[in-house]
Amino acid sequence: MGFVKGLKCRECGREYKVDPIYVCEFCFGPLEVEYDYEGIKNVLTREKIMSRPQNLWRYKELMPLDNEPTVGLNSGFTPLVKADKLAEHMGLKELYIKDDTVTHPTLSFKDRVVAVALSKAKEFGFDTVACASTGNLAHSVSAHGAASGLNRFIFIPASLEHSKIIASLAYEPHLIAVDGNYDDVNRLCSEVANKYNWAFVNINIRPFYAEGSKTQGYEIIEQLGWKTPDAVVVPCASGSLLTKIWKSFQEFEKIGIIDEPNTKVYSAQATGCSPIVAAIKEGVDVIKPVKPNTVAKSLAIGNPADGYYATKVTRDTGGYGADVSDSEIIDAIKLMAKTEGIFAETAGGVTLASAMKLIESGHIKRDDVTVLCVTGNGLKTKEAIMGHTGEPHHINPNLKSFEEVLVNIKHKE
Ligand SMILES: *Cc1c(COP(=O)(O)O)cnc(C)c1O
Repeated sequence: MGFVKGLKCRECGREYKVDPIYVCEFCFGPLEVEYDYEGIKNVLTREKIMSRPQNLWRYKELMPLDNEPTVGLNSGFTPLVKADKLAEHMGLKELYIKDDTVTHPTLSFKDRVVAVALSKAKEFGFDTVACASTGNLAHSVSAHGAASGLNRFIFIPASLEHSKIIASLAYEPHLIAVDGNYDDVNRLCSEVANKYNWAFVNINIRPFYAEGSKTQGYEIIEQLGWKTPDAVVVPCASGSLLTKIWKSFQEFEKIGIIDEPNTKVYSAQATGCSPIVAAIKEGVDVIKPVKPNTVAKSLAIGNPADGYYATKVTRDTGGYGADVSDSEIIDAIKLMAKTEGIFAETAGGVTLASAMKLIESGHIKRDDVTVLCVTGNGLKTKEAIMGHTGEPHHINPNLKSFEEVLVNIKHKE
């Protein structure tokens, strides 16, 4: 273990040693982990990866730890589902769902970033972890922090889905519900982080935390038979996952695991919070912050930290972006459930509905091998589709009552 060279400013390139820091002191650019890729190339092969347990740590040389991982040992290696029925519906030749709705302990892709962030926080010697969350991060830090014996302060917008609040509370963290949106919560957390010596996973631990997202990209490549797709559609909140999926593809090329990736990366957002997609569509670099108003609360970041970089990746790879309404999100959740048996949370609806628009507009071609990143489980956002599903058939506990209903069902078919 231990291929990290240090931290480096993404803007001015100034280098720092490994510490719980996240911005450049000189230009205020974000810091990024730097690796010794030559060293990794010498030890990491396809065979070595395939010989390891099926969790996200099978790529551990490309993760920012100095020692063996200690958190999230059962996270990752989620299924890549070949979605033939959905493909047919969408008019695509070859479609895959990277299904992060299952396998992870807290049923969202956030178990990837939290596994890495908390392993690193423990290496740094922190006894308290904290986060600003749109829901899934709260759940994941609550759970993995509990299992790691860490004290947890979890900050959320008070208006989050009930299922996510209850799910987090089950692990008995200190849950702080803030009257405000995520951007208000995040601002408050920056102040708290300055004052208290805690590991804020998405503030002072952010450079390490964000690296966890790369594992989704490595898995896509491995599960496609060591190939990259032609198109990948990624839901964006802060924009970090999108940038890291592209980074993972580039890294696999750098260490000789694949040839040059030719993938177009697409951003998916809800129209009610689409600062990244707006910038992509306007062809500008500057992200205009918005006030979120969407059913997709897990993606409701109005002032996305990595928005600029996400915009750049979509442009550099020849991708694009699409945004979708609440009713398009709900229809897409139901379509995915009906065709593939996968019940996604609102973010998954955003991804699928956006992909359909990108096909319609000709950005994604019908013979592009396409991967949809579906990042969280529908049981976590049940309220989003409540009132938009059918009703159960109510009967008395006897055969006659059932058969009366059955006649009606058959009649409608
Ligand atoms: C956090 C999250 C994302 C994307 O997050 P980024 O901040 O863009 O990395 C996507 N889907 C779900 C369900 C999430 O919880």
